[in-house]
Amino acid sequence: MNQKKSPRNCKREYLARGHIFCGICGKKLAGETRIRGSKEYSYYRCVDWYKTCRTCKSLSYRADKLDDRIWKEVENVLEHPDLVTEAINALQAESGKAKAYEDELESIAARIKHYQVEKQSVYTAYRVGGDLDQFKTDLKIVTDELEALNERQAEIESRIEAVRKAEVNTEGIK
Ligand SMILES: [Zn+2]
Repeated sequence: MNQKKSPRNCKREYLARGHIFCGICGKKLAGETRIRGSKEYSYYRCVDWYKTCRTCKSLSYRADKLDDRIWKEVENVLEHPDLVTEAINALQAESGKAKAYEDELESIAARIKHYQVEKQSVYTAYRVGGDLDQFKTDLKIVTDELEALNERQAEIESRIEAVRKAEVNTEGIK
């Protein structure tokens, strides 16, 4: 391990080290102490900065200021534990809906299949009977239904995706 970056050389406790992430690239922020004259200055910095090929343009943040803000948030949560309970309940309520969403997705798939068959029948009816006005009317009904079902299907899929993410997030705190 690099001597300069070894934990023993940390001049300061970094409250948030390993728990906060760069807002630009998403990598962890590391703690860093710089000495200027007789004074020590502590910063948080995106770990990308230590690479030879840097891609992230993020700045460094004064550790005392950032820690202060985090402490205020922590204090706020400790004084209002219901904030945590509320957040967990909201996530779990969403997670409980997963089964209902899966069921709806199944019924939507069945209805899509139904209207696809229906669409074929509309074409067949036109080929046999040749009534263009009837064909146009019937086709519009079936097409509108299919469009609405496809929209609903996409919406449910994105909700299921959100529920899965919520489950991952609550795993560590249950
Ligand atoms: Zn970064």
